[in-house]
Amino acid sequence: MATVGKVIKCKAAVAWEPNKPLVIEEIEVAPPQANEVRIKVVATAVCHTDLHHLLESMSKDGFPVVLGHEAAGIVESVGSGVTEFQPGDKVIPLFISQCGECRFCKSPKTNQCEKGWAATGHDVMASSNYRLTCKGKKILQFAGTSTFSEYTVVNQMAVAKIDPTAPLDKVCLLGCGVCTGYGAAVNTAKVEPGSTCAVFGLGAVGLAAVMGCKAAGAKKIIAVDINPEKFEKAKVFGATDFVNPKDHSKPISQVLSEMTNGGVDFSLECVGNVGVMRSALESCVQGWGVSVIVGWTNLEDCSTRPIQLIAGRTWKGSVFGGFKGKYGVPQLVEAYLDKKVKVDEFITHNMTLDQVNDAIELMKQGKCIRTVLHVSPQ
Ligand code: NAD
Ligand code: ZN
Repeated sequence: MATVGKVIKCKAAVAWEPNKPLVIEEIEVAPPQANEVRIKVVATAVCHTDLHHLLESMSKDGFPVVLGHEAAGIVESVGSGVTEFQPGDKVIPLFISQCGECRFCKSPKTNQCEKGWAATGHDVMASSNYRLTCKGKKILQFAGTSTFSEYTVVNQMAVAKIDPTAPLDKVCLLGCGVCTGYGAAVNTAKVEPGSTCAVFGLGAVGLAAVMGCKAAGAKKIIAVDINPEKFEKAKVFGATDFVNPKDHSKPISQVLSEMTNGGVDFSLECVGNVGVMRSALESCVQGWGVSVIVGWTNLEDCSTRPIQLIAGRTWKGSVFGGFKGKYGVPQLVEAYLDKKVKVDEFITHNMTLDQVNDAIELMKQGKCIRTVLHVSPQ
């Protein structure tokens, strides 16, 4: 290909500073170095974690940055030492890498990896260099991915190869939201057949958690959201009961406890609010209730009275649904192609990269589940 080994100039949405609209700019994308893969992004969706970085964390350290981490694309070229990928492969970038060699990768107990962007500080490549520049400035790569761009460079340990027949403008959702919620229910909570579950927050992550609870055989799935417009969609994924905390003056944990003879067996917090995390835990039944924190925030402490845990509840957290990306993502792509998991139903809007600020606005206002930005032709 004509671009191999050369800098590619292309379009990307750059976040120059917190809480400002993204700016569509021409950026330079360096060729992949050793163990790296340059990817033509075909489709990327907007996840609340992108909004969290842009609007809520308010730390200037993480800027300028190209956001976006839920995407699918095609390998354009590979750096030296890359044997797992070749140009033309269909891939999904992974915000949780899988080096395969560290103590976490070698353990079946976790999907954490010691070598990814999270271990190196924040928001840059796993090496100390930068691959993206704009107007002479180095641009950070959000979550080591940066998919609000026509091209990006990702370390090979943070890429999953998928079925070449998969529609990239759909399976991009498996790069974050759908795997995160589904896996949180199936892998982290380990929801059991016949159980009662509550899912707090019905964005794509929460709806995928509902889908996971249903797949695991839960008999009652209570969908909780302060936006009642989300309830209709939650039915599609298997929710059986619906609670809007705004309709109640009592604490929501008490409402759920009364609905379920003492509390749910499993609860999943898919909002990113420490108050909701506490409610989700305290909605669980004593003795064996398990509550999983999925919502993303690192700004405040979350608390509860020790007796909640002494009484036998378990409080856990989950990143990327506990999936080791190189194994889990291709498996979920197959499950989607076999019609065993839903993906299309999460997509409420389709736009182009130029419309990224409109997509962000829709999510801020709670008017979408997922907006897919069509970046390049498949
Ligand atoms: P979203 O904004 O689409 O959905 C959030 C939902 O929560 C909305 O429907 C909103 O109405 C609801 N909500 C807000 N306040 C609430 C409250 N007090 N009680 C009940 N519901 C409330 O977001 P999303 O993309 O689905 O992401 C959800 C969360 O998951 C975010 O915090 C995101 O950062 C996080 N996340 C975590 C991981 C992970 O690996 N752990 C991965 C992806 C996303
Ligand atoms: Zn995400």
